[in-house]
Amino acid sequence: MKPPPFRHLAPRSIEEACDMLAEHADSVRVLAGGQSLMALLVMRMARPAVLVDLNRCAGLDDIAVEGGVLRLGAMARQIAVQRAPAVAQAAPLLAEALHWAGPRAVRNRGTIGGSIAHADPSSEACCVALCLDARVVLARRGGSREMAARDFFRDALVTAAEPEEMVTEIRIPVLPPGTRCAFEEVGVRQADLAMAGIAVALTPAPDGGIAALRVAAIGAGGLPLRLDAVEGALRGRRAEPGLVRDAVRAALAECEPPSDLVASAAHRRAVLEGLAERAILRAAGAERAAA
Ligand SMILES: Cc1cc2nc3c(=O)[nH]c(=O)nc-3n(C[C@H](O)[C@H](O)[C@H](O)COP(=O)(O)OP(=O)(O)OC[C@H]3O[C@@H](n4cnc5c(N)ncnc54)[C@H](O)[C@@H]3O)c2cc1C
Repeated sequence: MKPPPFRHLAPRSIEEACDMLAEHADSVRVLAGGQSLMALLVMRMARPAVLVDLNRCAGLDDIAVEGGVLRLGAMARQIAVQRAPAVAQAAPLLAEALHWAGPRAVRNRGTIGGSIAHADPSSEACCVALCLDARVVLARRGGSREMAARDFFRDALVTAAEPEEMVTEIRIPVLPPGTRCAFEEVGVRQADLAMAGIAVALTPAPDGGIAALRVAAIGAGGLPLRLDAVEGALRGRRAEPGLVRDAVRAALAECEPPSDLVASAAHRRAVLEGLAERAILRAAGAERAAA
């Protein structure tokens, strides 16, 4: 299949890209790695008149830690993010999760900004962005704004970005010292989209309890969700297997996992319970109790 006709524009700078987006805002899409967009085009699920191709745009692929924040340029390829020493130091959860994000050939081309902007409900990057309180930087002609990932993701494949805006950077606060992370996922095959997934960042207290806990899930709803109820139930407590299991079950009982051809809602919930328990106990350095 071939995509519908479109005009291809290749800006060399963020300013030029923003001008192009503003000029064609009634029918425009940004082209990043093309790993999702090209499929949408050939299936005629998107028919933009203009593609603004960021692949030759300068200043969009830096990966660095500055002032306690990991800054990921939107055009940084997923494989580069996965392998970057700055990511290993500041947000190892992201590197662990990206290992699951499709085949390596896709990660060679796909970008971190594309994953965030695409907002696929199964996206590992979106789940980690939520878990680690990432912020998304959006540029438009004449200015930019920044918002929490929690506010950026609106629904499956829907974000707060306006047509004339582009994602330029993802900002992730460096994890507090001693924080341990775990990412667990189940798909039909390893490189397939996740059926269910859990991201955890746990900061232990000096007494061995949990000082801070962040948990996000793929498959608990129509888009990645923070499991606030688990976080609240376990904060200040010790990660005892029974307590963790009860907190996870209670929180997931309130969620509405989707039912589709891959899994029923009940099966997703059961898988999520096991993944969340395992991930929290792994991050806490505790063994999972025998079922
Ligand atoms: C075989 C296969 C398996 C895959 N498996 C997984 C998986 O397991 N997990 C997973 O998360 N993903 C998976 N993907 C999707 C892949 O990770 C994509 O790379 C990613 O979703 C989009 O990144 P991209 O850079 O290719 O963006 P593109 O495909 O170029 O763009 C995707 C969307 O985001 C918009 N966009 C891109 N960049 C920007 C920007 N800077 N500002 C504003 N809008 C922007 C585009 O306009 C488009 O709407 C898979 C893809 C394939 C082909």
